[in-house]
Formats: sequence, structure tokens, C-alpha cells
Amino acid sequence: MECNCGKKAVLHRRYEGRAFCGDCLCRDVEKKFSKEFKKYGVKKGDTVAVGLSGGKDSAVLLSLIAKEAGRVGFETVAAIVDEGISGYRNESIEKAKELAKQMGVRCEVFSFSDKFSFAVDDIEKLKQENKKVKFCTYCGVFRRHALNKLARKVGADFLAIGHNFDDEVQSVMLNVIRGDVTKMARLGNHKETKNTIRRIKPLRNIPEREVAAYALLKKLQYHDGECPHSFDNMRRDVRDVLNELENKYPGTKQQVMRFYEKISAALPEEKKSMKECISCGDITSQERCRACEFLERLNPIKK
Ligand code: SF4
Ligand code: ZN
Ligand code: ZN
Repeated sequence: MECNCGKKAVLHRRYEGRAFCGDCLCRDVEKKFSKEFKKYGVKKGDTVAVGLSGGKDSAVLLSLIAKEAGRVGFETVAAIVDEGISGYRNESIEKAKELAKQMGVRCEVFSFSDKFSFAVDDIEKLKQENKKVKFCTYCGVFRRHALNKLARKVGADFLAIGHNFDDEVQSVMLNVIRGDVTKMARLGNHKETKNTIRRIKPLRNIPEREVAAYALLKKLQYHDGECPHSFDNMRRDVRDVLNELENKYPGTKQQVMRFYEKISAALPEEKKSMKECISCGDITSQERCRACEFLERLNPIKK
């Protein structure tokens, strides 16, 4: 199969019936990134914190943002969270640090063990008492909290996360399955409030396999493992179903996103007033944020 330019193709975009050579694919990824990134209005003198996990998505995100930073004149800081997942996070954090060093980007690390006195692996003890406890529920809440803290610490104006197009489609489906209209309304609409920094997702229009191809073609350092607790994650199941459907019916994911875009204007605005958590100051709709509430539940297993 050949690319439009005549060179040998490395990727076939089945839903469009179009093939790409390495050069044309990289150009396309960079174009989609730039188009989305411009919408956020990042300007000279701003600071962008980039959530860096060591995986391919955040590796591509950091490399594209670091390039843009050189052109526009904003500062980039890599925000790394160590959740304490043995046999997985250590390796990915090493890759993350190497990549940031290669790109000349400063790193800030937030470790659950140091700051919260527990590691995600310790949740196994809670699971033994209550089977309904899920690793990912706790991990997700604390990870978000940690990234907000890191972003605030470095005085960031924006917090960039490496969600790709597939992640966005999965989020739409997850919100449908959970019947969560409020979260659905918030999906494409991350506004900053007094104590939160605007979350931006510059890869949200780039499919996962194209992000992966870009990382390989650009020879970026990344860690390719899967978290040992991901069996506990509904997102992974939704991902597998969507991939199966896409395989059988190319264009399925694009249609889910089109559906979301068509209905998003009709989704209700967030009505709850947001305030500061009385314990940690993070933004929340309750008296105390979920991270503080969860930390209390974890007291018996804290070291
Ligand atoms: Fe955390 Fe779950 Fe992701 Fe593992 S799969 S890193 S436990 S959210
Ligand atoms: Zn080409
Ligand atoms: Zn709190």
C-alpha cells in the first residue's frame, strides 16, 4: 500500500480509506496537535505542566509541547506521579525522567508513599475486607489530586494530559454506561477555577495507534507495560469492546465522537457551586474533596 505522496505506507487509516508513509503521518499528527493546542491560547511567559507517566501518550505530548514551547516562549515542567505500583511504575518513571532530561525539561515528582503514606499496591489490604473496593477508583482520585498539587506548586497556568482520541471516546461510552450526564457535560469543557488549573488535552483528536506510531517513528523513550491492577478497570473493558467494534465496523469510534459533539450543546451546565476543600484547599463541590475523604478511609492501612 502506498501513501498519497508515493512512498511506502506504514499505517492504514481504515475509517478514511487512506494510507500514510512515516513522514506524512508525523506531519498529520503535528498538524492536529497544533490546531488543538492553539485553541487554548497558551502565550509567552506562561507555564505548562505536562502530566508525564512514561507511557507513549505522555511521551508524545511532552515532545510536541516542548517543541511548541521553544517557538512560543512558554515554560514546560514535567509532572510525574509515583502511585506505588511495583513492577510497573518504577520502570515507567525511569523512562519519564530520561525523556524529560533528553528534552531539557524540568521534572517534579509526587510520590504517594511520601505524601500520602500509602502506595496503590497497599489497597489490596482494603480489598481483602471489602471486595467492592477498586484499585483504579482510589488511584484515579489521588492521581488527579497529585497532578493538581504539582501544577500549583510550579505555578502552572495549564495542566496538559496525554488523553488521545481513543481515551475521549472511551470517556463518552463510560459516561453513557454510568448514566453520568454531569461528567459528560464536563468532558470537552475544562475551565479553570480559583484553585484548579485549566486541564488541556492537545492529543484529543489523534487516535491511539497514530500516537503510538509517532512515538516509534520519532524514537521516543517510553515504557510499554500495562498496570497489573488494570483488570479492575472498566475503562479497559470499554476499550477492548470499542476496538473489537472498530475492527469489524471501521469508523465506529468516529461516530461515537460525532454523536457526543452533536448532543454536547444540549448537555446541562454544571450547576453545583465549587468551593475549597476545608482540609487541603483543592476545589470540590462538597465540604471536603474526594481525595481527603479517601485518605481517611485509608487510615488503617497507612504506614
Ligand atoms: Fe492506577 Fe488503575 Fe491506571 Fe493502574 S490501571 S495506574 S491502578 S488507574
Ligand atoms: Zn507520504
Ligand atoms: Zn481535600
